[in-house]
Amino acid sequence: MAATVIDGKASAARLREKIAAVTAELKAAHGLQPGLATVLVGNDPASEVYVRNKRKTAEAIGFKSIHVELPADASQAELLAQVKALSADASVHGILVQLPLPKHLDEAAVLDALDPAKDVDALTPTNAGLLLSGRAHLVSCTPAGVMLLLKEYVGDIAGKEALVIGRSLLFGKPAAQLLLAANATVTMAHSRSRDLPGLARRADILVAAIGKPEFVKGDWIKPGATVIDVGINRVDAGDGKYKLVGDVDYAAAREVAGAITPVPGGVGAMTIICLMHNTLIAACAQSGLPLPTAL
Ligand code: NAP
Repeated sequence: MAATVIDGKASAARLREKIAAVTAELKAAHGLQPGLATVLVGNDPASEVYVRNKRKTAEAIGFKSIHVELPADASQAELLAQVKALSADASVHGILVQLPLPKHLDEAAVLDALDPAKDVDALTPTNAGLLLSGRAHLVSCTPAGVMLLLKEYVGDIAGKEALVIGRSLLFGKPAAQLLLAANATVTMAHSRSRDLPGLARRADILVAAIGKPEFVKGDWIKPGATVIDVGINRVDAGDGKYKLVGDVDYAAAREVAGAITPVPGGVGAMTIICLMHNTLIAACAQSGLPLPTAL
């Protein structure tokens, strides 16, 4: 029997409604309008699309959206000055510096200049450390979205074997921490791991964040497992066109898994909405208000 398709778009739409409602309440009761600043350096087409979607969603939800654009040859000093100015601006509660930055810029230095209270991507060492300590308010958006989908489609994951393939700061590491906090038995795999198919076949929950099209094969999947495909890969679709595929061979995995996220329409759909939720949390925290429980 083919797997249940995890509908990230539908989940994200429901969360968006809730966040918009809480935002309207905040405005009415406290005159507070959450502000999200996006910073884009250069003109990478994929980054431009991501930032445009984030700004559009923020505006549609009722946030103030501030956008800073710098040329591809902007200096480190110019970028740091912008990040510091946004960190000092009381109407800005969340700052999103779109990564990757052009090669000549130092990402770590930019994150160090970011006020951790406004770090809605949760990439600063402060927020990564708070997550490790089990005290984070701001959690990296894509892993947070994955946990929401698991909550909705699997429920309690205590004691389940979870495999996370990929150990990036952006996704793999925080995802493993969140799965561990939810009492899963977590294995992290990466490019040096041995016998990846064998590790995968043990997993009740398989999370792939590798960045390689259809890398995880159908016969790696444990029958009935939940498969979360984080990968977004542009591949040639012929006729000069391209299509998006994940890190999992979807057609084959769907025949074996119990539930699976499609690409697009799965995990990716949740990421932006979790960014909005983080901005809402950041706005309340910075205004001394109780943290919302919109989700
Ligand atoms: P990344 O920083 O490039 O990390 C890739 C990870 O995959 C690394 O840890 C790497 O291992 C591991 N890896 C590479 N080749 C491997 C192999 N042959 N076997 C096992 N592991 C291997 O990527 P990322 O930022 O985490 O993103 C991963 C994918 O998710 C990309 O397609 C990205 O576009 C997508 N993504 C989607 C969203 C979303 O909103 N849906 C958000 C973030 C990322 P090493 O550490 O050993 O090099």
